[in-house]
Amino acid sequence: MTSRLLIRNGIVIDTDPMPAVTGHTDVLIEDGRIAAVGTGLHAPGDAELIDATDRIVLPGFVDTHRHTWQAGIRSLTPDISFAGYLGRIIGEVAPRYRPQDVYAGNLAGALECLDAGITTLVDWSHIQLTPAHTEATVEALRRAGIRAVLGYCYGGGGGPEELAAEGHRVHKRHFGAADPLLSMAIGALGPEIAGEEAALHEWRLARDLDLSVTVHMGGNGVQSAERGLAFLRENGLLIPRTTYIHPNHYTGDALKELADSGGTASISPIVEAELGIGYPATGRARAAGLPIALSADAVTSGPGDMFSLMRAAYALERARPDGAGMGFTTRDALRMATIEGAEVAGLGDVTGSLRPGKQADLVLLRTDTLAMAPAHDPIGAIALSADTGCVDTVLVAGRVVKRDGRLLHHDIAAVLSGLEESAAHLTAVP
Ligand SMILES: [Zn+2]
Repeated sequence: MTSRLLIRNGIVIDTDPMPAVTGHTDVLIEDGRIAAVGTGLHAPGDAELIDATDRIVLPGFVDTHRHTWQAGIRSLTPDISFAGYLGRIIGEVAPRYRPQDVYAGNLAGALECLDAGITTLVDWSHIQLTPAHTEATVEALRRAGIRAVLGYCYGGGGGPEELAAEGHRVHKRHFGAADPLLSMAIGALGPEIAGEEAALHEWRLARDLDLSVTVHMGGNGVQSAERGLAFLRENGLLIPRTTYIHPNHYTGDALKELADSGGTASISPIVEAELGIGYPATGRARAAGLPIALSADAVTSGPGDMFSLMRAAYALERARPDGAGMGFTTRDALRMATIEGAEVAGLGDVTGSLRPGKQADLVLLRTDTLAMAPAHDPIGAIALSADTGCVDTVLVAGRVVKRDGRLLHHDIAAVLSGLEESAAHLTAVP
């Protein structure tokens, strides 16, 4: 039997080709997919109804790069540099992670996303120290009920054989059959971090498993960016379905080369600015033709919600020292947070807009709050005024995961107490 849900009388924003608003509009969902968007849609008697009066209805946000495991060490390192982050978080804290810490962090982090209207998450997971860590990662993502791409980054030591064997094992065990919510990508450390030899094996694994690649490249200074790009070029690794994270130090020509190769970019405006990685390349990458999306990256040093990221990307782009950023609009920021995010995550046909047939990943934002009213320009209000407090209702594949401002299906007190226990272990002085 077909299940139906009708969202009625909303301020509806579709995001493709450019964000546009229609008032007093309905969204009909059938079996978890968007069936129709329009006014006065008819709902059969058995349809569930959601009244969206005074609510903005839009596609769920997409975070294209977050180290979700770090939720338990949130705000541990404010006022730090990129080198400091690598030393403290990656060098000291990450090795202390047990599988149960990954579970606690990933569950809380994924729920934090849903609570904030982020319905799709690229979980960039470089905490795969043992197979048990991987089991914990996947279990937490499934338990959360979020749409997620596991950016699997092998961290178990050994050489290329171990990387390949474990990558194949994880893929076979968890991603052999199509899953409605979870999929896998290769989180590559890449030539700039892992070295050139290791990078060859990461790309080989992605090719053998037919998976996309997501890699931190271009954020480590001009020379490193140039060398890394040359290495990919020389080895035939400039391939489609590759996301370049922190493309701050690429020249315009380099960004164009990435775009021509079918690549995409993930920009973490707050962490990039705060940690001194570089000025976000938002407008330069867009001008080069790269699909660009937003990412929280590390909640150890930045916020985890999409409103903050949109606002930061928008403000920094318009404040570009060369004065070339004033054409960047709140509509552009919203595209980055939705449809372009979906494209960067490899899910452009699945989510990110209200096109009928797509999965019903939706967010309803209150406009009847002191922060939002009267929301003259609803798109501007999302990018400039909204915060997580106005996230009223959230759906993933038509399933209501948040209603009337409350997250459903989870005992949040228990999740937080698990996180607290984990945090105490992770931050204990050895
Ligand atoms: Zn990162």
